[in-house]
Amino acid sequence: MRTEADENYLKEIYTLEQDQQQVTTSMLAERFGYSPATITGMLKKLAVHGWVNYAPYQGVGLTEAGRKIALQVIRRHRLLETYLVQVLKVPWEQVHVEAERLEHALSDYVEERIDEALGHPEVDPHGAPIPSSSGQVTRVERLRLSDLMAREQAEILEVPDRNPELLTHLNQLQLIPGTHIEVMAIEPIDGLISLRVSNGICTLGQTSASQIFVKRFDKGEGETPT
Ligand SMILES: [Zn+2]
Repeated sequence: MRTEADENYLKEIYTLEQDQQQVTTSMLAERFGYSPATITGMLKKLAVHGWVNYAPYQGVGLTEAGRKIALQVIRRHRLLETYLVQVLKVPWEQVHVEAERLEHALSDYVEERIDEALGHPEVDPHGAPIPSSSGQVTRVERLRLSDLMAREQAEILEVPDRNPELLTHLNQLQLIPGTHIEVMAIEPIDGLISLRVSNGICTLGQTSASQIFVKRFDKGEGETPT
């Protein structure tokens, strides 16, 4: 039997593994706001269940069984976010917190009914891929908005889901998945980025820009922002 905390740890380790060479106790301590000792205790427990490989000072990695659980919880989270936005009309910036609660309570049956009702969506409202029921994730080649150069054009693929204030701001600027953008200029000081989007020009700082994933249009593709 696994607990809500077990699921949250496995999900977080999975998420960190996407970006990091090695996931460490201190990375998890920072994410959860617990002491490294608390994290170590939890990792030992997860290792006993066979969900992670963990040795002190060598970091932690998911086993096949651990990855399967993490992907199932992520699938439920993203399906719930999609359902909350599309069907219940919950505002975009509020669905993450709700999905964090509900993801642990969902049965296989209701998960499948939601997936069916939504027409088997491939991405959630923030543009994150929804793993299949067998745990497959479709990966798309992408880069960070902050890596674009002046005059490059791109389509927004994914925005981070955890920060309601940032999401509200991005929504107001129309910087949402599917939007076409063009980098007009990058200020030499502070790296402020001016972007052309459908409803005009907006400015974005590096911290926000580095959290947004885009697909660059190749030169000559000639897409006009719409
Ligand atoms: Zn979320």
